[in-house]
Amino acid sequence: MKQSFLAAKTNMNAPADADCINAKLLTQAGFIKKEMAGVYSYLPLGFRVLEKIKKIIVEEMDNVGMQQTLMPALTPLENWKKTGRDNVDIAYRPTENTVLGFSHEEIVTPLIKEIMRSYKDFPKCLYQIQTKFRNEARAKSGLLRGREFIMKDAYSFHTSEEDFKQYYDKVAEAYFRVYERCGLESYKIEASGGIMSGEEKISHEYSVVTKAGEDTMVFCKKCGFAQNIEISKKRKGDDCPNCKNSLNEEKCIEVGNIFDLGSKYSDAFGFHFTDTDGKQKPVHMGCYGIGVSRLMGTIVEASHDENGIIWPQTVAPFQLHILSLRENEKAEEITSNLEEDGFEILYDDRNESPGKKFADSDLLGIPLRVVVSKRMLEKGCVELRNRKTGETQEIPTRELQKYISTYFMPIKK
Ligand code: ATP
Ligand code: MG
Repeated sequence: MKQSFLAAKTNMNAPADADCINAKLLTQAGFIKKEMAGVYSYLPLGFRVLEKIKKIIVEEMDNVGMQQTLMPALTPLENWKKTGRDNVDIAYRPTENTVLGFSHEEIVTPLIKEIMRSYKDFPKCLYQIQTKFRNEARAKSGLLRGREFIMKDAYSFHTSEEDFKQYYDKVAEAYFRVYERCGLESYKIEASGGIMSGEEKISHEYSVVTKAGEDTMVFCKKCGFAQNIEISKKRKGDDCPNCKNSLNEEKCIEVGNIFDLGSKYSDAFGFHFTDTDGKQKPVHMGCYGIGVSRLMGTIVEASHDENGIIWPQTVAPFQLHILSLRENEKAEEITSNLEEDGFEILYDDRNESPGKKFADSDLLGIPLRVVVSKRMLEKGCVELRNRKTGETQEIPTRELQKYISTYFMPIKK
């Protein structure tokens, strides 16, 4: 895509109200625009990143047998009355008889009840990627705590606690893969509570170390042991209870969580099943959330430098940023050849100074930058720079495709 065409404008000055790095960099680079506290628009660049994150999530959830659905955001109040969550303080109530969904147990349970009646219909797990609304007391930190945000929420239904537990462990592994594929190192923390759970059953939070985080965890880099300091007896420097390594303590952000719901919601909606012995039995439920838009903010918090964002390849809005330094004819030819090979390219064709183009490129954070300049072309070369390592190489133009392929595969093939 030509940068002159892209609906985005970079700004070298941080927005005055940006209270953290993701708000600052994503706004300056033209990925998002704040509409009001906790509410953002996603511009084309930001939307592309979101779609990449969603694709990773969809692949991993489908892989553990979940089925994607889409439930409404505008929901009937009567459903929430059945569970007593009609008056929780985070609920938006646009009209007298409606609630904007802040979680979807109250919708998915009566919905699936119509479909699953016999033990033969079990287990199943439905998920959706959807906009959630929460009247958070303090919306802050850019995409980390919104009042309107994107969540992946999943709900599983089982005939027994044992079956639930087996599934829970499978999802737990899939969660690690999601974060890893997003370029993040995550820790699984034993936790309790949360809006989704509503009771003190087993639950785990997935957390990523970032200074902008609201929580603090003690954790072991060697074996992955982690606890929220609110419930932990361990402190920084103590021995890890598993492997005796010295523990770290850092601020962190919760990027997802998984819960045992027991039969709380199935009971509330009279959702039972007929077992092999012909008897009616309670349905055991689990739920599994990922903060999709929070994940995007977290990636920026975890991966940036003083010049801008450093996107992991897997979620970058484009794979390559090609900069023409007044060599548009040649740069266009290189771009269209690589696009034909299937690479996703942002091509800076703008009539701007080299300095401005370099600064914008660093701010945007696309993994590989290719500079097409007179000086390089005279040598039959272009300059290739890795945004993350800063490593720069002169590459013969005809070998460029081969070099790029050592970094990543074309996306569109
Ligand atoms: P938190 O303790 O951060 O408020 P929560 O316990 O309320 O989170 P859940 O209700 O379980 O979270 O929601 C599932 C996931 O959605 C969370 O793990 C988090 O990643 C994300 N999330 C929750 N609230 C917000 C929010 N206000 N803005 C953005 N993402 C959110
Ligand atoms: Mg919350």
